[in-house]
Amino acid sequence: MPWCRGGSKWRRVNRFDLAGGVGCLGKREHLMISIQVKQLTKQFGSVVALHGLDLTINPGELFFLLGPSGCGKTTLLRSLAGFYIPEKGQILFGDEDVTRLAPHKRNTGMMFQSYALWPHMSVAENVAFGLEERKVSADEIKRRVGEALESVRMEKYAERKPNQLSGGQQQRIALARALVIRPRCLLLDEPLSNLDAKLRLEMRTEIRRVCKEFKLTTVYVTHDQKEALSIADRMAILESGHILQVGTPRDVYKRPTRKTVAHFIGETDFLPGKVLGIAAGFVTVETEVGKFDGIFGDPAKPPAVGAEVTVSIRPECWELHRNAEARNVVRGRIGDSVYLGEVAQYDFVTTNGTKLKIFERNPRFVDGSSRGELYATVEPEDVVVLTE
Ligand code: ATP
Repeated sequence: MPWCRGGSKWRRVNRFDLAGGVGCLGKREHLMISIQVKQLTKQFGSVVALHGLDLTINPGELFFLLGPSGCGKTTLLRSLAGFYIPEKGQILFGDEDVTRLAPHKRNTGMMFQSYALWPHMSVAENVAFGLEERKVSADEIKRRVGEALESVRMEKYAERKPNQLSGGQQQRIALARALVIRPRCLLLDEPLSNLDAKLRLEMRTEIRRVCKEFKLTTVYVTHDQKEALSIADRMAILESGHILQVGTPRDVYKRPTRKTVAHFIGETDFLPGKVLGIAAGFVTVETEVGKFDGIFGDPAKPPAVGAEVTVSIRPECWELHRNAEARNVVRGRIGDSVYLGEVAQYDFVTTNGTKLKIFERNPRFVDGSSRGELYATVEPEDVVVLTE
């Protein structure tokens, strides 16, 4: 019996786990389910891994779980799969309460960081396994295995054994095996972590295409923000067993509601400040480098005039000019710089000595002779005022 790894934990897996459970959807049976998590609490002894989580994943949604190591992503995914039974709370697949249902009765397709392929079976047999369990006809198995292998570019390897494949190739077979059974939802734990950079880019688009084609509700755990930002419909950011924010990639990136989220996703500079005024949906904040008009990170909790806040500005939101602009302007000089072709990364040192990160696309100011005093400006929509 093979072993597989979910997060940092290893466990034995059985035939049903590998096949993704019982039941199978035809390509045209678009049974889209929602996944609801209500007040879910999971403890390991004195460690509370999930603190009363509430979350709704919409039918057919490609939903990502993101957060720092140990935040509870894997615990939540494994609770959805049925490998952990929570102490409190409920998990619903559509209208069905699956909180205490065994993994093999949930009809989930799973893919782990490791491959967990059967070593004695060929690639085609590994992929076909779940369909044979479901008594799918031989012709249909042949067709679907062929399709699945083609979708992961492994059609030429059908007769090989797993030990004759590279790690990345084995991972692709694991993906084909999870998809071929057309489960009612797909649970992916760092599925692309063993692939090289180029293949990761190709495969993430492929995963999205397949999820959308089969209208699969998919929950995807990753450490790779770019993976999440590029293909997620929505994502949840977790920390210490709590959900901090749920939203589309754009919501979470452009309008983080908390400092922790702004810090976790992408790069940003934080400037402490004090609220001077609020008008027409914008808030004016005095900081050590000057005054900024910005937007509220969490419109539900607007700060009061006089409140201590933090301003978050991402490096790519600045624009550099030789002349002063009227609004949201900071005076300074470029310090260290890194030229990366399409973009340059600068340390912008303001007149009072504060360092800000500024990324300039199609760089003009990277050449030392064009430097001197510059003005950096930022649109109010890109200045996020956080109260946390
Ligand atoms: P990573 O990104 O490193 O995989 P994660 O976000 O997936 O982390 P989890 O594996 O869900 O985090 O762990 C959440 C918390 O629960 C951590 O504090 C972890 O140490 C703890 N934990 C997880 N599994 C167990 C276990 N089997 N026994 C005891 N504690 C556990």
